[in-house]
Amino acid sequence: MLISTRGGGGVTASSAILRGIAPDGGLYVPEALPHFTLENIRDLCGLTYPERCQRVLSTLLDDYTFEELGRATAAAYGNRFERNNPAPLRTMCGNTHLLELFHGPTLAFKDMALQLLPHLLSMALQKNGVTDEICILVATSGDTGKAALEGFCDVPGTRCVVFYPKDGVSRAQCLQMITQGGENTHVIAVEGNFDDTQTGVKRIFTDKAFGLKLAEKGRVLSSANSINYGRLAPQVAYYFSAYADLLLRKAIRPGDPVHFVVPTGNFGNILAAAYARDMGLPIDKLICASNANRVLSDFIQTGIYDVNRPFYKTCSPSMDILLSSNLERYLFELSGRDAAKVVGWMESLRREGRYSLGPQAHSNLRGRMIGGWVGNDESMNTIQRAFSEFNVMIDPHTAVAYTLLNRYRQDTGDMTQAVVVATASPYKFGHAVARAFSMAEKDDFACCRSLARMSGQRIPPQIAALESMPVRHTAVCAPEEMMQSLNDLLLNPMKKAI
Ligand SMILES: *Cc1c(COP(=O)(O)O)cnc(C)c1O
Repeated sequence: MLISTRGGGGVTASSAILRGIAPDGGLYVPEALPHFTLENIRDLCGLTYPERCQRVLSTLLDDYTFEELGRATAAAYGNRFERNNPAPLRTMCGNTHLLELFHGPTLAFKDMALQLLPHLLSMALQKNGVTDEICILVATSGDTGKAALEGFCDVPGTRCVVFYPKDGVSRAQCLQMITQGGENTHVIAVEGNFDDTQTGVKRIFTDKAFGLKLAEKGRVLSSANSINYGRLAPQVAYYFSAYADLLLRKAIRPGDPVHFVVPTGNFGNILAAAYARDMGLPIDKLICASNANRVLSDFIQTGIYDVNRPFYKTCSPSMDILLSSNLERYLFELSGRDAAKVVGWMESLRREGRYSLGPQAHSNLRGRMIGGWVGNDESMNTIQRAFSEFNVMIDPHTAVAYTLLNRYRQDTGDMTQAVVVATASPYKFGHAVARAFSMAEKDDFACCRSLARMSGQRIPPQIAALESMPVRHTAVCAPEEMMQSLNDLLLNPMKKAI
């Protein structure tokens, strides 16, 4: 059973996946987290990634059978990932590893959940006897949009509409989205930043009149953003898988502590790590890595979440976020699962753009997480250093995390085994990465060619192909026009200019 962080209760996993957000405005969380013994964790070692994921999901998704999850994970992770390995662990040196989550069709970790979500959703439709067309609504900081379009492209019974901040994504991210094929995909640029975009989408979800209007036409909205429980659950699996791989390599023995460092903006990826730890995975330190939009790192330091601050456009745009929507799930845990407290904090956030945890919850937070932030220049240095020292080219998001691991080790002398979560291919951010090597050119594709030459790698075909693909999506709207655009698209197709 899943319950809402704002006190609403008891729905099945499939129903939570269909709804996205709970009717009371809260997010769905497990009523109780399952527990994995060391024996259970060791058992994962002999399994393939889809099988490991099946095991983990079977404890998190109550009304899916083990067999159904086997089918879904095999279909999602079977052959759409490079070398059929969705989450390889690459060792940089003895105690430092990269968990590479960017070998899927869109080259960012969002594929890990969004290749699977359509299968979970199709099963959810059947389980709940829903015959309406599902309209997947997405606000993206760049990577979720493409991963959702790719996951839902031409999936029967679904439509996928993506809103992205017009000037807030990398060139490759933008091209990936606006060249998307498929009969059921739509992409709209919003004249604002990611927070404007995410707020607009949330407003659409909670507009009851609009929901009723859609229902009359046999349509229902759902979300592929990380507020959807179906995004979160698959992300828990790769933390278990990484630990199993460390065991297989004899880098650790069962029960040994491992640190994880996660680059984050919306608090989705690191929340999955926190759940994995609460489920019994021996994660010791969890480092929450922010860029200059350091609202989370300040929050961990001070216990005060405050969005009244400047918004920076950084070289890690997928983390340019001030309103971390998944944090609400963690607040629920920090408060001792006190929904009234969560409602109070969210109300304060809505009214004043800030809230204060209070001493008890703040001390819980500081006991569980370390926060830090890294500026552009330092990220650039790290990209350059990782290549010169280990011959590994990392992207600017991963660089934020890797910088903080180095800083943590320098500050503490703690050399425990550590895993840096690598969230995107460097070729997705060719311009920024080329800049780290002082070889940036105007054209992103030229940058990627230089990087490929330097590293002796091949440009991923998904990126190379973008140069000549036709643009299919050109719609633009203001943040306050988002609902109208969607309305025209779904209910008034004669008017559509998309
Ligand atoms: C989305 C994204 C992140 C941040 O993920 P969260 O959901 O905020 O944890 C980090 N890096 C890349 C490349 C991303 O696409």
